[in-house]
Amino acid sequence: MPSSYARLDELASRDPVHFANALAALDGARFALTAGASKVMRFMLEDAGGCDAVIAPASYLEISFAWNRGRHQYFAECAPPIVSALVEMANAAPPAHRIRGSIGPALHDVPNFIPWRHGRRRLWLDATAGEIQIRVRDDDPAFTDLPPEAFPDPIAYPYTVIDLMVPLRCPHCDGASTSYRKLSDGSLVCLVCARSFTYRA
Ligand SMILES: [Zn+2]
Repeated sequence: MPSSYARLDELASRDPVHFANALAALDGARFALTAGASKVMRFMLEDAGGCDAVIAPASYLEISFAWNRGRHQYFAECAPPIVSALVEMANAAPPAHRIRGSIGPALHDVPNFIPWRHGRRRLWLDATAGEIQIRVRDDDPAFTDLPPEAFPDPIAYPYTVIDLMVPLRCPHCDGASTSYRKLSDGSLVCLVCARSFTYRA
């Protein structure tokens, strides 16, 4: 899996108070954007492709981006300020447990994080006592009240390791082994030096 997936993750506390505060933001409580929340919200809104986000008490703030699929997990404390900002931008009246609207264009400038802006985006937000689901897409008039399909998870490439009868020498590191990873084109990957080479059985 490309390392960019891992770089987006920020594993952190899953304190349920942050989920309760995110629900409170839908009911009218306001939480100022922090530098960390502004950074995560930038990932969510800057790219026109949008994102799917889930906030739940037992998990992190989990986001899949159009530009980087997968389940990226962020500090749960980012959730209340981000929900608060979304409610304000959508002009949603509390209790805003179901939001259908457009947000932006907007500029977000908070201390200790670079100012950034995003274009007009369509927002779907659905909250229950157990989960807040958020979908963001580019503002296309073809969209309806029905939330768009969730992004599919990234394609997982099968990891196949073969066992050879006779040890084979890696042409790169010269190590001999009977175990190699086999790629779909038939070439082998050395498990020691991670370099690939053509192989004909
Ligand atoms: Zn090797």
